Amino acid sequence: MNVTIENDFVGSLPADPIRQNYLRQVRGACYSFVEPSRAGKPRLLAYAADLAESLGFSVDDCQSDKFVDVFAGNSLLEGMKPFAMCYGGHQFGNWAGQLGDGRAITLGELIDTHGTRQALQLKGAGKTPYSRSADGLAVLRSSLREYVCSEAMHYLGIPTTRALSLVATGDAVIRDMLYDGHPAPEPGAIVCRVAPSFVRFGNFEICAAQRDVEMLKQLADYTISSEFPNLKRLEEPEKYIAWFEDVVDRTIDMIVHWMRVGFVHGVMNTDNMSILGITIDYGPYGWLENYDPDWTPNTTDAATRRYRYGQQPWVAQWNLLQLANSIVPLIGETTPLENALNRFPSLYQERWEQTIRNKLGLLDVGSKESPLVNELETVLMLTETDMTLFFRELANLDITATIASEDPLYAMESVYYAPSSISAKQREQINLWLRNYATLVKHQNQSQEERIAVMNATNPLYVPRNYLAQLAIDEVEKGNDEYLDEWMSVLKKPYTEQLGKDEFAGKRPEWARTRVGCSMLSCSS
Ligand code: AMP
Ligand code: MG
Repeated sequence: MNVTIENDFVGSLPADPIRQNYLRQVRGACYSFVEPSRAGKPRLLAYAADLAESLGFSVDDCQSDKFVDVFAGNSLLEGMKPFAMCYGGHQFGNWAGQLGDGRAITLGELIDTHGTRQALQLKGAGKTPYSRSADGLAVLRSSLREYVCSEAMHYLGIPTTRALSLVATGDAVIRDMLYDGHPAPEPGAIVCRVAPSFVRFGNFEICAAQRDVEMLKQLADYTISSEFPNLKRLEEPEKYIAWFEDVVDRTIDMIVHWMRVGFVHGVMNTDNMSILGITIDYGPYGWLENYDPDWTPNTTDAATRRYRYGQQPWVAQWNLLQLANSIVPLIGETTPLENALNRFPSLYQERWEQTIRNKLGLLDVGSKESPLVNELETVLMLTETDMTLFFRELANLDITATIASEDPLYAMESVYYAPSSISAKQREQINLWLRNYATLVKHQNQSQEERIAVMNATNPLYVPRNYLAQLAIDEVEKGNDEYLDEWMSVLKKPYTEQLGKDEFAGKRPEWARTRVGCSMLSCSS
């Protein structure tokens, strides 16, 4: 394979001097060198051809045994110096101490065809010094979910880590899927994820917790010079303030995207927050089916629902506060960081209003429009309403007919989970909203085509619905990869209706309402 591996992260930051792979508390180092474990009988289940190409892998490379071996952790390319990062984090609101890459191993970096440095990281390739009580492995169901969703997010235009490959290891992994005392063997798998950096808020938090200001500064300077190069020449401490403001900005941008498409991360701990503002660590995530701001896919979070859909912006702000706390020593005072954090709500609101305007195809959210926008959430929650399909069908509404109709909801019935159980009163409320919406739209100075174009570019038709992921897992576990291939190709054009692909846009079927893996997921992955 004709690719040149680089090791900029390793070359720039302090390494743990211990080379043996055993559990430990690591101090004074950003990472530990560690070799991936061997996979028994690796099989390539899927790979992202366009990403591979941009990283310099030829089609022949991707189909070679060497490719499978490398991305199963069985072989290294020349120049790879694999390592696991040291980080800490706040989990469910509490400081959890050292966490680190317990089952992630970065192999090295490549410069892609855009000139961007991209790190390659295996997830599920065995134990590291940070594995704590766990095995360092990942099961097929969770690896497939990460592979599909990170690629889907990329094609949805949402900042994310990407997935280069999905390899079944051929080894069994024992998991107690629901933490209810029923451990069972499951097939293992490894995803190779790709991002310019895998540094998280927690990488800075661990430096601060260890009161290691020198390492904190080294990591911040490295991150700024490699990932925020336009800031690197600023004076100190302005450089760090501008950097934090940029991270706030990027994080808001990412969350607005999540809210736009109905994505619920499920485990927004500070160790799962990227310093680049990209979506990272796909675990018990989920997609809103019926619109419900209180929904969380994560059973581990069922009690307090800390990470529910509607809470995500405020959790992001809380996480940014933890990052701010840990970088105070670089700035020497808290005021500039507080100011940046205090701007979060208004910045978020401003961008969300623009997004909701686009979702509804409204040119303005002035005094006429805002009651309509304010009532939208109530209308979506009167009866189980599929969020994704609602916005797509709204674009298709015949505006003139809606204004004149006694029952405009009739044209939208397919977006409801139980249309026959909608009461007369609910129906009336929804109808009133639809007529008001159509009236506003009719008086906008915008053509029907323009409105539909904006709405359909904002509201995807194909999202990786929870039950579709489960169907893909069932098929791959049976040895059939075709369903996954077809679904992945549909997910590459999420905003474009594709002929004959209705099955990938359908509402959640009744059987999926209660099936584990469809509406309920645990952290057991
Ligand atoms: P998560 O909530 O999945 O982001 O994981 C929290 C921490 O647990 C991170 O430090 C992970 O690396 C670690 N972890 C999760 N699953 C495993 C596993 N199977 N083996 C080792 N470490 C794990
Ligand atoms: Mg994590």
